[in-house]
Amino acid sequence: MKHLCEQITEKRSLRAKERRMDWFDVDDLTWQDWRWQQAKRIRQSDELEKYIVLSADEKQAIAGTSASYRMAITPYYLTLIDPSNPMDPIRRQAVPSLEELHLEDDELVDPLGEEEFSPVPGVTHRYPDRVLLYTTHNCPVYCRHCNRRRKVSMPETMPARDTLSMGVNYIAEHAEVRDVLISGGDPLTFSDNRLEDLIKRLHAIKHLEIIRLATRNPVTLPQRVTPEFVEMLQKYHPIYISTHFNHPAECTQEAAQALRRLADVGCVINNQMVLLKGVNDDPHVVSQMNQWLLRHRCQPYYIFQLDTAEGISHFRTPLASGVNIIKALRGWTSGLAVPHYVVDLPGGGGKVSLQPNYLEDKNASTYLFRNYRGDLFEYKEGS
Ligand SMILES: *Cc1c(COP(=O)(O)O)cnc(C)c1O
Ligand code: SF4
Repeated sequence: MKHLCEQITEKRSLRAKERRMDWFDVDDLTWQDWRWQQAKRIRQSDELEKYIVLSADEKQAIAGTSASYRMAITPYYLTLIDPSNPMDPIRRQAVPSLEELHLEDDELVDPLGEEEFSPVPGVTHRYPDRVLLYTTHNCPVYCRHCNRRRKVSMPETMPARDTLSMGVNYIAEHAEVRDVLISGGDPLTFSDNRLEDLIKRLHAIKHLEIIRLATRNPVTLPQRVTPEFVEMLQKYHPIYISTHFNHPAECTQEAAQALRRLADVGCVINNQMVLLKGVNDDPHVVSQMNQWLLRHRCQPYYIFQLDTAEGISHFRTPLASGVNIIKALRGWTSGLAVPHYVVDLPGGGGKVSLQPNYLEDKNASTYLFRNYRGDLFEYKEGS
């Protein structure tokens, strides 16, 4: 089965490979080495300028954000940028823009009240049966839309080893916690050994039923998902992986290999997309990406409405735009490709999901529905 979209992916990968050849004079083995990718991250504007022409605004933005939220781009992710397109979806996610420096009144440093629901440092316990556990504050690429930018990119603020132990102990002491979401930053910034040490300790907790790893490495540094890494993971099933693809331009052969490795050892993979104005607020883009994800055994799980964090309001879309995406998917493509569209309520209210309204009218026990094609159907509730 060679899908048309698969051909698009191949073309895109080819173009990225051409850029790689032009820009980075290294052999395949070096390119595939995630440590090399990590070490060669582009962090300064003069470095970035060697590859793409920066606008005056971008240069000013890189300088202006360097103190509060650094720039970092892996060579791999950089080659996905089409340098001729100033609105390229990868560029918008990775290169700072001046709008980040405009702070709006309703923006919050801690939009989700993570601190308030934090029983011990490094843990957020908001829902009855599951917790978030923070690991590093480091990521291969610092996404410009990150809602944890107050912490991420500042490795000096990352939880120390004993803080992480406090988190593990908290989970061990709370029998109601049956699900842990290891987050960050990106937990795959840890070495395999350090990550295994953490996962092993969590796996040993009897009441903990599942372990989830939230990582964007399959998107920004797919080389990190090595055969050794997945071999380690498979000892601690059930392991769920939440990843963060935002655009079909990220759906490369390298990303496909990372997903294949994870799925082949039995990890259950899902995707959490963040809705971004001008990047993916388009049903066609989302549908193309979600179908690619399904072909690679990754199920679209959430579309997140952008949080009200500082400096990201230029990415924010109206709620109607997310609802319209769901409307354009439901019924028209596999239900498996239709994620939940959720808003994480400011102030720690938690996630609520929004859906198109299919109920047109109700009369006594008769409901009038409009289906995905816009046709009307009656449903009579049994008396
Ligand atoms: C999102 C989130 C979770 C996980 O939520 P699910 O809907 O189960 O994926 C857990 N804790 C916190 C604090 C969260 O924000
Ligand atoms: S990978 Fe996640 S935590 Fe890291 S910068 Fe991107 S959105 Fe933020």
